[in-house]
Amino acid sequence: MRTIFGWFIVRINPYRSPDEGVDGVGGIDGAVVACFDITAQKRVEAELREARIAADAANAAKGTFLTTLSHEFRTPLNGMLGYADILHLDGPLNAAQLRKLERIKAGGWHLAAMIDEILAFALRDEGRESVRAERVDAREVARAAQELVEPAAEAKELAFVLDVPENPVELETDVGKLRQVLINLCGNAVKYTRQGEVRLVVREETGHVVFEVRDTGIGIAPEHQSRVFDRFWQVESAATRSFGGMGIGLAAAREFSRLLGGEVELESEPGRGSTFRVWIPRARGDA
Ligand code: ADP
Repeated sequence: MRTIFGWFIVRINPYRSPDEGVDGVGGIDGAVVACFDITAQKRVEAELREARIAADAANAAKGTFLTTLSHEFRTPLNGMLGYADILHLDGPLNAAQLRKLERIKAGGWHLAAMIDEILAFALRDEGRESVRAERVDAREVARAAQELVEPAAEAKELAFVLDVPENPVELETDVGKLRQVLINLCGNAVKYTRQGEVRLVVREETGHVVFEVRDTGIGIAPEHQSRVFDRFWQVESAATRSFGGMGIGLAAAREFSRLLGGEVELESEPGRGSTFRVWIPRARGDA
């Protein structure tokens, strides 16, 4: 004998005849029984439940893997960057050596930034990303970004212009994350510009500090402008591929800006250049 297992919904409704019932006094004459086979629906529900458990486990494993990996990469890199910083203490370096050292540092910082972004994504996906609040002069954060990106601009003979107000621009935010946003935007501006200049502007607006990164580079087509902020998304073109990259710089810039209570916006014209504008609330409370 074959046993058939299934799920059914059985619905029983009382049946009353329109006229007097068979017993002559009216009332319930019987029952209407309907039986619905919901086995297929139950099977799909069980499959979805299992798939969800598997996806959660895979996500947790990915998070652990990424945090471990970033840590394993970051630690030796910190040592390398530290030694690069103090190399000059052993004796004066000549101009050519200093130039090479700057390249080593710029490459190291770029790598460190990418590792930090991957780590931030992993932490954010797990809901563990934290935001600090420090008081800082926004011009200093812009200068720090300039210092790290300028060697790459010089190597391509591009002018890097820093355009900041004369007086301090007070800001209370997570300085590390803001610096990362600016480095990513300025780094891209240099990467996607063949000639002309990259300009980093700092401006004050009511309740916000605005950072603008303008370039005279290849620009971004209107149909790509909303997608460039997606993780691991790159404009599929020979022009973009020739510049290299992973497609996480802008995603990190937008996610970090939002974590700080701000936003990033893009204006671009293919062949003429791009402007990325970042608003950061002046104080964490304004977010
Ligand atoms: P990538 O590592 O590829 O630079 P990003 O997330 O930083 O990744 O940028 C995503 C894509 O957006 C890039 O591949 C490039 O096509 C485009 N892009 C970003 N910044 C600029 C820019 N300043 N000018 C032109 N295209 C840009």
